[in-house]
Amino acid sequence: MLIQLTYASRSTDALGAADIKDILHSSQRNNAIDGVTGALCLSNGIFLQQLEGDRHVVNRVYHRILKDSRHKDPEILDFSEITSRRFSTWSMGMLSSVADNRQLFLKYASSADFDPYSMSPGTLRAFFDEVVQNARWLS
Ligand code: FAD
Repeated sequence: MLIQLTYASRSTDALGAADIKDILHSSQRNNAIDGVTGALCLSNGIFLQQLEGDRHVVNRVYHRILKDSRHKDPEILDFSEITSRRFSTWSMGMLSSVADNRQLFLKYASSADFDPYSMSPGTLRAFFDEVVQNARWLS
């Protein structure tokens, strides 16, 4: 059964560019093996990640991610069955709050800062729909 899981967490203070690269590269490697796709955003010190794949596998990956000391305060924001993947071509794409993406983040924020913890499941889905179309990705 195909599902999507969306969660937010806060990056720990000591997180640097090398950590972000490590996270992205291990995500891409592991997710390709697991058949998990999705996107990871970082803005305003907050990670927002959408994982898609088999329910059992996504649960396993999510519980591994929870043990990671590079972030804290995880909260599941949306968990639902899907009929097809939104991110069928990325094992894990990552976008950050570079100038090109700032407008995209703010479009779906209710305040001046990007705060996915306060976004509804509907708004999150609209945000990720637009991410697929318009985001500028890190590699
Ligand atoms: P490696 O790839 O060998 O480790 C890579 C590097 O990360 C090494 O430098 C190692 O020292 C460091 N590292 C590994 N685990 C930890 C840890 N728990 N705490 C601190 N440093 C660590 N993994 C996925 O597979 N898929 C994802 O979609 C995914 N998304 C993530 C999203 C966020 C916000 C964060 C913080 C992490 C995410 N990760 C993801 C990483 C995940 O938490 C594990 O670190 C990773 O899956 C371990 O992979 P590996 O065993 O191949 O380790």
